[in-house]
Amino acid sequence: MSGTDSLPIRQFSKDILAAVESNDVIVVIGETGSGKTTQLSQILLEAGYASQGVIAVTQPRRVGAVTVAKRVAEERGVQLGREVGYAVRFEDCTSVATRIKYLTDGTLLRECLEDPQLQRYSVIVLDEAHERSLNTDILFGLIKRLVRTRNAQAAAAEKAKAKAGEAAAGSGSGPDSGGRSAPKPPTRLRLVITSATLDGEKFSAYFGNCPVFNVPGRCFPVDIIHTREDHLSDYSAAAIDTVMQIHTSQPEGDILVFLTGQAEIDKALVRIHQEVAALPAGSAGPLVALPLYASLPPEMQVRVFRPAPEGVRRCIVATNVAETSITVEGVVYVVDSGVVKQRSYQPSTGMDSLEVVAISRVQATQRAGRAGRTRPGKCFRLYTRNHYDHKMPNVTAPEIQRTSLVGAVLYLKSLQLGIDVLSFDFLDPPAVAALEDALRQLLVLDAIDADGNVTALGLRMAGLPLEPALARALMAARELGCVREMVSVAAMLSSEHLFLAGQGPGDAANPGGPDSRRSSSSDAAPAIRAARERLRSLMAEGLGDHVLLLRLWEGWEAAGCGRDYAREHGLDLRGLNFARDIRRQLEAVAGPDGSGLDKLGGGGGGGGGGVRGEEGGGEGRKRGREEEGGEAGAGLKGARAAPPGAGADSGGASSAPGGRASAAQVDALRHALTVGFANKLARRLPRHNGYKTLHAVTGQLAQLHPSCAPLREDGDGLLPEFVVYHELVATSRPFLRQVCATRAEWVADVLPKIMSADVRRLSKGTARGPDGAGAGDGGGEGGEGQAQSPRGAKA
Ligand code: ADP
Ligand code: MG
Repeated sequence: MSGTDSLPIRQFSKDILAAVESNDVIVVIGETGSGKTTQLSQILLEAGYASQGVIAVTQPRRVGAVTVAKRVAEERGVQLGREVGYAVRFEDCTSVATRIKYLTDGTLLRECLEDPQLQRYSVIVLDEAHERSLNTDILFGLIKRLVRTRNAQAAAAEKAKAKAGEAAAGSGSGPDSGGRSAPKPPTRLRLVITSATLDGEKFSAYFGNCPVFNVPGRCFPVDIIHTREDHLSDYSAAAIDTVMQIHTSQPEGDILVFLTGQAEIDKALVRIHQEVAALPAGSAGPLVALPLYASLPPEMQVRVFRPAPEGVRRCIVATNVAETSITVEGVVYVVDSGVVKQRSYQPSTGMDSLEVVAISRVQATQRAGRAGRTRPGKCFRLYTRNHYDHKMPNVTAPEIQRTSLVGAVLYLKSLQLGIDVLSFDFLDPPAVAALEDALRQLLVLDAIDADGNVTALGLRMAGLPLEPALARALMAARELGCVREMVSVAAMLSSEHLFLAGQGPGDAANPGGPDSRRSSSSDAAPAIRAARERLRSLMAEGLGDHVLLLRLWEGWEAAGCGRDYAREHGLDLRGLNFARDIRRQLEAVAGPDGSGLDKLGGGGGGGGGGVRGEEGGGEGRKRGREEEGGEAGAGLKGARAAPPGAGADSGGASSAPGGRASAAQVDALRHALTVGFANKLARRLPRHNGYKTLHAVTGQLAQLHPSCAPLREDGDGLLPEFVVYHELVATSRPFLRQVCATRAEWVADVLPKIMSADVRRLSKGTARGPDGAGAGDGGGEGGEGQAQSPRGAKA
């Protein structure tokens, strides 16, 4: 423990504790690596703050919560899951003994649904606040409110107790023996916000000018060198050149390079190794280049904590996860490309785009700071001083202003606090159009009614660890008798790393790129790939990706969940194992016959089967995509699947493996998907194979992404008239990704709901009545609208 004693935050623990003691809310600013995440919780524990309740520390990413909990358990010499534990979506590693709990911000948000007072916690640390993840931003607003109400109640309870104590003078304070005990009075809640960047004043102002505590960093000076020309368009090549220059001309010290995504990083690693190998003998020492990005397997991630062998220079090529989330030790040189891959969402069309954009000045400063952790360093910026001074934005827009808010708004509605979402107390409010888009989508999904109140169905959806569209599809599957199939598809869609690199949806967009280094089996010969593609297109039955996923799951399960099947089909065993875990969890909630779904939500407390929380608004697989490793809000992911091979053929408790859905069940599945993805339908253009989305505001022209599983053509040689899509993305142009053929009659059922609704009315909603009853079912009489009535709808 002496190692951690020297961390900056430990040296200020007295002052921090004094500030926590006398304030409800404090902000702690300390540079990355100062010990905020690993030490603060322990400092609070050691000072006795866990005696009244658990100390919660939120992390924006799943892998963050898991690795940090492991680290802290190690530091304290305790077994993970006992004194120190973690809870993330699909995994709860805590016990009654847990005093320090690391959890994703999404998991804490979900816990609010069951326990709106968050009664079990004495202190909540909203960690990594600088990342401004969507869920953290929502928690800011909710916990700000909660601190006020809970602490007022706690103070009142204290007072009452003191009075009662005077009156009864010692008698009757024991537990009353008759059945129910009175609800425990609320205890005081303390909130600590931590950030690695100097945004303390902003947080403080939002939290009623609470104190800001600055932990002085141990930062050595960093020389900043700008290029004479901007290299924002050829940053990758410029970065590699710079690495080679550093390696051949600068003294020892590791290099940290910031690029934007996995494919690009993997390519750069190959180039760097080639160039180092081509150097004349003796001109430079050995160099080992390592990747660091979101979807990297955990065992590869920890390599950045290990120093290089004597005399070997390390070059870590990373996305922006190395900016604040992970401290790479030993870095002396930073190469800053000046760009980041950032996702943004257009509420008017529902389109997601993933673009390489200029970083902000705050990010540039943070990147440069990475070079001065152990001794004076240098930062090579691949852009001009002029670009930095005049073209860079000051700060990055928070995720809440760049993403779909459907999941977040469903939470807010499900709390039944009478929150008017359009005037909710956001730290930085999202665009009105984005909130309206979310409200409209929830109405279409029957999750809220025309008065803006959550429906019983909406409550059940919020209780599922799935994004709203998939949750709705699962509820529809219950009606249509295909829960088993939908659970399989939802699990497959929610898993990351399902396809081996270069083999899966999305990879066809960059053919020819070097495959991921993490799995040699991905270097498949073209003939093998072609064979796999033929196999897959057969399995998709001309109906698209969802049916393919279902068949792949069924096939893998029937084959005993083994390695061979995975390899033959170009699937990553790790991803499949994760899908199987998710599937088990979902099945635990739904029950083998789906009846568990009827018990969800409404009145809280109910069935959850241990499935809690979610990450990043529950966008599942979509958010886990490799390219998003570079995105501010997405970052590291991955530590999840059961160890490969562990119990690979145990099959699961409730479901007999090997069942294959009949054609009727596949139809039911597609029907249920159509209900769940009512906001994501597209219609083929007349006499054309392009599609236009059926969107209430603006229909978007889009093509099927090349990675889509093939769809059967009609007699006229055209694709199906209607499809459900999982994602509408703009890369080089708009594409639909992961599509499923649907039918006009199913579309006709949901189409009227897509049309306009009185959004202002949807915003408000009312607070839950004393009886705790939600609202009625149904909703969605969203008027008629002038929908293009689907051809053949009445046939
Ligand atoms: P902060 O949250 O302020 O950025 P952390 O508490 O995450 O700081 O880290 C404090 C120190 O502990 C850093 O020097 C970091 O490198 C080290 N550290 C954190 N996690 C691990 C780990 N899993 N293994 C080894 N060292 C770690
Ligand atoms: Mg931290």
